[in-house]
Amino acid sequence: MSDSALTSEETVLLDRVQAPAGEGREILDAATREVLGRAPVQTVADLDAAIARAKAAQPGWEALGHDKRIALMMQTADAIDANAEALARILSREQGKPLNGPNARFEVGACSAWLRTAASTVLEPQVVVDDGETHAELHYRAVGVVGAIGPWNWPMMIAIWQIAPSLRMGNTVVLKPSEYTPLSVLAMISVMNEVLPADVLIGVSGDREVGARLASHPDVDKVMFTGSTATGRKIIESSAGNLARLTLELGGNDAGIVLPGTDPAAIAQDLFWGAFINTGQTCAALKRLYVHDSIYDEVVEQLAKIAEATPMGNGLSEDNVLGPLQNKQQFDIVNRLVEDAKAHGGRIVTGGAPAPELGELFYPITLVADVADGTAIVDEEQFGPILPIIKYSDVEDAVASANRLNVGLGGSVWGDRDEARKVAARIQSGTVWINSHGGVHPMIPFGGVKGSGYGLEFGVEGLKAVAVPQIING
Ligand code: NAD
Repeated sequence: MSDSALTSEETVLLDRVQAPAGEGREILDAATREVLGRAPVQTVADLDAAIARAKAAQPGWEALGHDKRIALMMQTADAIDANAEALARILSREQGKPLNGPNARFEVGACSAWLRTAASTVLEPQVVVDDGETHAELHYRAVGVVGAIGPWNWPMMIAIWQIAPSLRMGNTVVLKPSEYTPLSVLAMISVMNEVLPADVLIGVSGDREVGARLASHPDVDKVMFTGSTATGRKIIESSAGNLARLTLELGGNDAGIVLPGTDPAAIAQDLFWGAFINTGQTCAALKRLYVHDSIYDEVVEQLAKIAEATPMGNGLSEDNVLGPLQNKQQFDIVNRLVEDAKAHGGRIVTGGAPAPELGELFYPITLVADVADGTAIVDEEQFGPILPIIKYSDVEDAVASANRLNVGLGGSVWGDRDEARKVAARIQSGTVWINSHGGVHPMIPFGGVKGSGYGLEFGVEGLKAVAVPQIING
């Protein structure tokens, strides 16, 4: 069997979730642009029915109690592991990310890992006053129905980030995957539903209109949204109607600062993957790199060497670790930003033009040197395989540059740990990594500031975010 043929396991999963022949909407393989399958096109009426079912199922799910929910969640993680290779192959085709590297197999592995951690994380009631006269406790109850809306870059993992804590706390979930990557997410949900009681977790495949209805529906009590800042603003507006609680993980434009005295060779690999994980289509990727002028040329050269040696191509080939852009819209953004950088005097160190020999949506790793703040490649979120590298001579200026945009998801400082920690404290972002960029952990809270949104995911804070506090006083 060739690498590219669907395995029987993939066919079984796809057939469970896709629309019948002649119906639905074609979903293309991101690398080959051949038809992968047909996404069901569900309507606002279908969504309303799904929310009604989730609402009816919620009290029973909550009443099961923590131990039974934990056991069922552990079984969903086992079910994902049992189907891991087929899920990774579907994800690789639909999203474009290779099987190997920090990509499709890694993403599926993270899904079961996050489920297990959310299942085993404990959120105990707290005694807030106990002074002999008053005894008051803070408890966390289920919110009700959680509406989850996700993007196309890490579609399965981000869905799990929304689903896992929600189920753990006794909520039911209606999830709308991105219209670009519905099949991988629906396939994962169908695997989880081999174990879960009916209607506890429902996937609804629809467009932006369905997303808008999910965010504004009167029976949705909490919205977990990951996507662009523009859509995030619309969701805030609709929450004025249903008063849904919100967690908003929005866009970013993470800065990295390399301090003087840092060894370029020692950090180059981690810088590269901080920027180019998932071929740059990652919310908390390194998107602007500020390097001290004393080591600027060497950092650029080290990154270029790695870029040229890192294989890009069809994700089903075991050799590749970089893939295509997922969709034409994002490809066009990347292309525009590179052309604009060239027109504004940016120096293309490597890459710099599409790679049609690899396929329609392939763009090589592109390093743009000698650019400054104020150019589009620096100021806009590229969400693709381009990195602007900006020279600085005073750390104060680099900190000011990092903080000048109205987003703040992540950031990083590279160099001596003590020096780097001092600089880190002055960066306006939800996370600052020292000598790495973008790593997430199921017990370490993650979220943005400024235009990157609000609310925390993961760990105990993540459980609180999908719960309502209740005081028992007396
Ligand atoms: P997007 O905002 O275009 O779409 C995200 C989801 O919102 C899709 O499912 C879409 O159908 C839905 N949607 C669109 N309009 C809607 C509306 N009016 N109401 C409700 N839902 C609506 O984002 P995208 O292009 O899929 O994702 C890329 C963006 O997501 C980037 O900016 C990236 O930085 C961000 N992102 C952030 C994180 C994070 O954790 N902060 C993670 C991944 C991606």
